[in-house]
Amino acid sequence: MDMEKLVALCRRRGFIFQSSEIYGGINGFWDYGPLGCELKKNIKDAWWQDMVRNPPPGPDGQEITMVGLDCAQIMNPKVWEASGHVGGFSDPMVDCKACRGRFRADHLLSFTIIFPNGEKTLISGLGSPQQILELNAKKLERWQKANGVIDVWPKPIAFGDLNEEGRMKFRCPTCDEEGMLTEPRAFNLMFESHAGAIKDDANKVYLRPETAQGMFVNFKNVLDSSRVKLPFGMAQIGKAFRNEINPRNYTFRSREFEQMEIEFFCHPSESMKWYEYWRDLRKKWYSTLGIKSGNLKPREQGKEELAHYSIGTTDIEYMFPFSEEPQELEGVAHRGAFDLNAHMKHSGKDLSYFDEEAWSKDAAGRKTNSFKEWLKGNPAAEEIEKYQYVPHVIEPSAGADRFTLAVLCEAYTEDKQPDSKGNLEERLVMKFHPRLAPVKAAILPLVKKDGMPEKAEKLYRELKQCFKVEYDDSGAVGRRYRRQDEIGTPFCITIDGETLQNDSVTIRDRDTLQQRRIPITEVEAEIRKALRS
Ligand code: ATP
Repeated sequence: MDMEKLVALCRRRGFIFQSSEIYGGINGFWDYGPLGCELKKNIKDAWWQDMVRNPPPGPDGQEITMVGLDCAQIMNPKVWEASGHVGGFSDPMVDCKACRGRFRADHLLSFTIIFPNGEKTLISGLGSPQQILELNAKKLERWQKANGVIDVWPKPIAFGDLNEEGRMKFRCPTCDEEGMLTEPRAFNLMFESHAGAIKDDANKVYLRPETAQGMFVNFKNVLDSSRVKLPFGMAQIGKAFRNEINPRNYTFRSREFEQMEIEFFCHPSESMKWYEYWRDLRKKWYSTLGIKSGNLKPREQGKEELAHYSIGTTDIEYMFPFSEEPQELEGVAHRGAFDLNAHMKHSGKDLSYFDEEAWSKDAAGRKTNSFKEWLKGNPAAEEIEKYQYVPHVIEPSAGADRFTLAVLCEAYTEDKQPDSKGNLEERLVMKFHPRLAPVKAAILPLVKKDGMPEKAEKLYRELKQCFKVEYDDSGAVGRRYRRQDEIGTPFCITIDGETLQNDSVTIRDRDTLQQRRIPITEVEAEIRKALRS
């Protein structure tokens, strides 16, 4: 599928516009039009319904408790110090001295290792030069021991490819000048602003780069105010902002985007079980909404890729048409107790959990009923951890915009269909899953006379109480069908002469093009059935 065609369709039909387009746009920001915002809302609603309101039973068949949150986008800057974002949320950036372009040094930040016998190999990765050397320290040491002195050629190189001599080319991806790229340096991705009238460092604030931290810092508030007990999860959908060095690939890498994140808190001894539960559930969710399994690539991160605190992470990736490599839609991470520990340390507040139920259940044989008293007897650490512990966290973190883009790519279909005379005609159809389709049904009076519009309007008014539906009475019915196909409406309901006689309508299926006649009273049920499929 050609991305340019999709971008054109999205603009033409009102799915996605460039932000501030009449002023020439602004790089990395996008606006969702009337249909795009319905589509994205359906995606967020489906996530909320399936993950928060009605998640499937847990690994042992138990009910799962999930609660929602909606936190401020600007938080106390100390949150971002504790989370590590102030110190470390950066990408390696290089500048081109020729064209003044700035680039994220994504792929090849590499060192060439030259062995004493002249053989060469590469170590490379994503990160600062120091990080890459640190990550490879063991390997380098091994090589050093086995081969004597090895030469690390000499500096990290960005955007290079190996040429015939095994050396790297320093080429700017924009102006193609060789040798003009600077050393990579860390560039913090957080947007800064100031809260209050004075613009100084004391008033500096950040636009949140993720929604997750709002949930960690509210952990105690939620425990104290709602009657949740561990294990349980918090969920939040909201905007996040990252000053990406090179926003690209349409909405895939934007500077303002929306996340759908869960923090699931559990006992450390049960955390692997919950990690597997969420990983499998999240993989499955995408296919239930129409993503073909062949395009979905879950990828367990290798040990060398994992963040230092993570016990396991699976990236759920999708084969976008703009890249030969699958690209991340969501990361499901086992984060251990890293975040709560960090906030305990920085805030000085106790964020551990006391499992009163387990404590009371094991009461038999204990001399004291008070946990504090019991602690004075110096029980073993594992004994204490049965009742009081810093929870481990499983974090499925998905991008609403990235999934919206995947849904658009997946839905885009060009096929050939017979026209009224039986000739094959090119058709552009967006095959959205009915749950996600921006418009669920179009109500079309065959002609604008003989009482058909009145009948159609009545049906439209009834249906719009339950679904987003459209009424369209302009032009030939074939043209109207085609428009609905292009915006991905699963059903077209036509009111014709027979409707006036026996209250039946035709219902046309977008994908099979089959038309059936059904009683007008059954239209609502037909649509509902498709939404449950
Ligand atoms: P990437 O490696 O692509 O930059 P990430 O690993 O930094 O992504 P996370 O921090 O794990 O991303 O964020 C969770 C999710 O938020 C991602 O899986 C993605 O769906 C979404 N996301 C992150 N950055 C962006 C962005 N710049 N534009 C749109 N969505 C994003």
